[in-house]
Amino acid sequence: MMEFQRRGVMLVIASPSGAGKSSISRALFGADPNIRLSVSATTRARRTDEVDGKHYHFVDVAKFKRMQADGELLESAEVHGNFYGTPRAQVEQQLAAGNDILFDVDYQGTLQLYRSARKDMVTVFILPPSIKELRARLERRAQDSVGTIETRLRNARIEMEHFEDYDYVIVNEDLETSSQRVRTILASARLQRQRQLNLPSFVKDLQSQIDSI
Ligand code: GDP
Ligand code: ADP
Ligand code: 5GP
Repeated sequence: MMEFQRRGVMLVIASPSGAGKSSISRALFGADPNIRLSVSATTRARRTDEVDGKHYHFVDVAKFKRMQADGELLESAEVHGNFYGTPRAQVEQQLAAGNDILFDVDYQGTLQLYRSARKDMVTVFILPPSIKELRARLERRAQDSVGTIETRLRNARIEMEHFEDYDYVIVNEDLETSSQRVRTILASARLQRQRQLNLPSFVKDLQSQIDSI
């Protein structure tokens, strides 16, 4: 099928902790070779199932501050008592190569990215079907201490205040349905006119074919 050269999509997925954005992101990567994860730097402790450099770049506070001061971070924020930030270097390079980038950032990160990159961004907010289910998911994930789970549950209230900053909202009841919805959002974002870089010359070419009839 005909494919134009295109500029990548910055796909931002945000949610209260435990609503399912990592699960949805994982499903997306399995199904699509043209999307890359923006691997954040964080000062939070690594969970047992996380790999340094793949899920996050795990750094100490001193190193994080240095990255910030050196302008290496596109955005950064304190979330649940830890620092998180998006390394700048990968982003421009992947977008120009026509790859899409998935950002798992909180609402503060989303707002900072809007300032510099609104036209490249498509943003999705994930809600849990209920708070009872949100708590159950945080507990089932079994990666965080009881205190951490309580903090995350309380912070869910603040994160949810920002749902209106997002282009799309999905209530994550069934994981497969939610993943399919995000794939649909990405598929239509890829077809936006301004992302299809060769369109002007393609249309000119069609017109010149008419002229030479
Ligand atoms: P989980 O998303 O609940 O599994 O927990 P994480 O520890 O992975 O993420 C904690 C919070 O930090 C979430 O709200 C993320 O969206 C946010 N976060 C992760 N990476 C970044 C980042 O690079 N920048 C910003 N601003 N927030 C981030
Ligand atoms: P987040 O990245 O938003 O913090 P996760 O993707 O880690 O959330 O999901 C939290 C927990 O909930 C995980 O144990 C995951 O397997 C589970 N989960 C995610 N989505 C669903 C869903 N639709 N139905 C049931 N469990 C889910
Ligand atoms: P977790 O500690 O559960 O991996 O992530 C907690 C929160 O931090 C999530 O809401 C996640 O989206 C956010 N987060 C992760 N990386 C970044 C980042 O680079 N920037 C910002 N602003 N938030 C991030």
